[in-house]
Amino acid sequence: MKSKRNHATPSRHFASDNYAGICPEAWAALAEANHDHSPGYGDDTWTQQAADLIRDLFETKCEVFFVFNGTAANSLSLASTCQSYHSILCHRLAHVENDECGAPEFFSNGTKVLLLDGADGKLTPDEIERAVRRRIDIHFPKPRTVSVTQATECGTVYAPDELAAIGRTTRRLGLKLHMDGARFANAIAYLNVKPKEVTWKAGVDVLCFGATKNGASVGEAVVFFNREMAREFDYRCKQAGQLASKMRFLSAPWVGMLHGGAWLRHAAHANRMAALLHKKLRVLPEVKILFPPQANAVFAELPQAVIAGLRERGWKFYTFIGEGGCRFMCSWDTTAADVEAFAADIGALLEGTMKLPSTKSRRVSSRQSN
Ligand SMILES: *Cc1c(COP(=O)(O)O)cnc(C)c1O
Repeated sequence: MKSKRNHATPSRHFASDNYAGICPEAWAALAEANHDHSPGYGDDTWTQQAADLIRDLFETKCEVFFVFNGTAANSLSLASTCQSYHSILCHRLAHVENDECGAPEFFSNGTKVLLLDGADGKLTPDEIERAVRRRIDIHFPKPRTVSVTQATECGTVYAPDELAAIGRTTRRLGLKLHMDGARFANAIAYLNVKPKEVTWKAGVDVLCFGATKNGASVGEAVVFFNREMAREFDYRCKQAGQLASKMRFLSAPWVGMLHGGAWLRHAAHANRMAALLHKKLRVLPEVKILFPPQANAVFAELPQAVIAGLRERGWKFYTFIGEGGCRFMCSWDTTAADVEAFAADIGALLEGTMKLPSTKSRRVSSRQSN
């Protein structure tokens, strides 16, 4: 088939960090774990070592469980904080609400998820308190757990003092604090603080620590700082089909990535690529940057013709995340050359649309696009 394009189809994309493959450190650990026999269901040395490395990283005696994905990590850990008559408070744009097909409600036997507003994908103590005080009668599902996402669905990052303030509020109100850390590494790379500063020291009871998007093959860790809450969590995992039989292949990548610091290097690299893309896009007057890009994503509004043109050139990215606009996500293997090529295509397409007389009226918010 004849192509209109005179350049190669891109081999890397800006759709999601899960488009990227397995990083060399995780791959090497998987290969090493593939020698000889090892006990199943987590009774192996890889799983022991991975859990110990996570305990070292957080500088505390936490309980660690490895599950297959973030939806399971979030919904099972949230379920362990709640009874079915409780409610979970999260941001309106939270993955827990929008991208888990009702799994948190399902695994908690009906706990209601209540949605809160907040700029840049973040909750605030005031908003939490307002939601809790709004109804305190027996007819309303009793607020029990607050869920924050770090880094947020908008590519922003909670600062340590913002989280500490949320933690003080949840404690005062008798609530539990859950953190969706699918991109926790990107948040730590941005903040340059010790992981404990934005977790248990800030009052986080349980963290879903993501590895997949950071370069692992598959798997997330559920980290209970509140160890009482971890009671019988192994049964919950088993019942939900989340107890891996050959668990070493979930845990070995953690060893590869934590040992030697690849987890943080990869996240910092992804963040740098997003910063580079932001630098290239923010000077273009037709491009509106939607959130401060602090982690590994840039959210931007572009003219529809440019979005269509990028897709025609083979670039893949999402337009349905958050509040609309395009989401450009960088990963551990995104190169500066990828960013340059992508930004150059955006620039060229913008120039093309500006030559047309009705550019302004053609500019449609991508809010409606799916
Ligand atoms: C990707 C992601 C998850 C995990 O999703 P799975 O597809 O279930 O692994 C959780 N939270 C956020 C914010 C995410 O971006």
